[in-house]
Amino acid sequence: MAEDLCNNAIEGLKKLLSERSDLEAVAAVKIKQLTADLEATTSVERIKTGFTHFKTEKYEKNPSLYEELVKEQKPKFMVFACSDSRVCPSHILDFQPGEAFMVRNIANMVPPYDKTKYSCVGAAIEFAVLTLKVENILVIGHSCCGGIKGLMSIPDDGTTSSDFIEDWVKICSTAKSKVKEEFKELDFTEQCSKCEVEAVNVSLGNLLTYPFVKTAVMNRTLNLKGGYYNFVNATFDIWCLDHGVSPRLTI
Ligand SMILES: [Zn+2]
Repeated sequence: MAEDLCNNAIEGLKKLLSERSDLEAVAAVKIKQLTADLEATTSVERIKTGFTHFKTEKYEKNPSLYEELVKEQKPKFMVFACSDSRVCPSHILDFQPGEAFMVRNIANMVPPYDKTKYSCVGAAIEFAVLTLKVENILVIGHSCCGGIKGLMSIPDDGTTSSDFIEDWVKICSTAKSKVKEEFKELDFTEQCSKCEVEAVNVSLGNLLTYPFVKTAVMNRTLNLKGGYYNFVNATFDIWCLDHGVSPRLTI
């Protein structure tokens, strides 16, 4: 209803604008306001529709699951995934509520242990490993990753063009160096694909800089796993770095 009113008002103003050029500035401002109102209304409607669907189709149909989750969470997985809207782990791996403790950031990176610079990530890992006692940490890279493309595009002269992004993705600079060295013959897009995988390995290595992660891995209560979701051809690769064995499985 509100959408119809906004649309009608915009159409009316556009008509007026075509007839009265002297009102152009006033009408343009009003159209801008109404368009913003319309967008806000549409986005609230989308959230309402989404939550209603979840509540009726999932929450109310699985009362035992949600009653258990009220008491506690016992996820077996901690997952690092990219913030990219195409790679949500709950969708691609069908994780249900309570199954995966997640951190999502630009290019699914795990920074090395640093109490001041990366306390946000450190707090999540500490809670997952020491309190939740997750059994797996899975770092998922993905195809066409904008963050990795950004890392691969940073000029060698050190000039920077962003407030946060470049500094963040440099966490995986060693992956970039390795790919540029080992795959010189590949074109830029192919190098980015290689770096998307190699950056996961850097993150897995960085996880071992957290003392509680290293201890849990050595005690064999925690496994570190790499994953790669290719949404171009719909495949998922998984590999393990735990215990020195690295079998790679493509699904
Ligand atoms: Zn990404």
